[in-house]
Amino acid sequence: MTINPFNEPLNEPLNKRLRLNVAERLADTEAEGPGRRYALWVQGCPLRCPGCCNPHMLQDEDATWLGVDRLAEEICSTPYIEGVTFIGGEPFAQAEALAELAKRVQEEGLSVMVFSGFSYDKLSRSLEPGYQGLLAHTDLLIDGPYIESQQVNDRRWIGSANQNIHFLSERYAHLRDSETGWDEGSNTAEIRLKGGQLFINGFPHPELTSLLRKMKAMSTP
Ligand code: SF4
Repeated sequence: MTINPFNEPLNEPLNKRLRLNVAERLADTEAEGPGRRYALWVQGCPLRCPGCCNPHMLQDEDATWLGVDRLAEEICSTPYIEGVTFIGGEPFAQAEALAELAKRVQEEGLSVMVFSGFSYDKLSRSLEPGYQGLLAHTDLLIDGPYIESQQVNDRRWIGSANQNIHFLSERYAHLRDSETGWDEGSNTAEIRLKGGQLFINGFPHPELTSLLRKMKAMSTP
């Protein structure tokens, strides 16, 4: 994926050169990780998991290019949130810019959670630019592809049984060490009207997804 198509001078600070291809962003959600979070969906994913709930975010095409500076400012000025969640699409396909953004928001006291279709083992051994930087500034990593045949509705934030959470810092040690288990509780979904369109995030029950798809088909001329 092309991260910086703007041919900017290399003597600019890194955070000024880096931009992200953003599919969607939501300033305040409780369905994409612990507490209230700013969620940022990136555009483009090299994987093609059957049943992926965001098929429109997979193509490597221009969505909305936003600078790291602007996103850091927007995230850090959002009231009441405890952190940011990077989701997609595949966050590690834009690891360099996200590593810088993660560093900036952590410096302001916010936590960072990342969903990746790649395994932690693979990510942690990669020499791709930004991979180790993004891992270094991630508190919680959910790894592994979504596998439709292993879909679950009783794990917080997680769509299929093969996926795992990695506590890469002590920030959420209380969840890791919880006697009831960090993923106790059913999946959460939120539905809102955004720009006149129904917007759903989190992991909705398949029956709800199917109902919403039917409603959308009926309302499309
Ligand atoms: S890794 Fe995630 S975004 Fe990519 S295809 Fe799989 S479920 Fe979809």
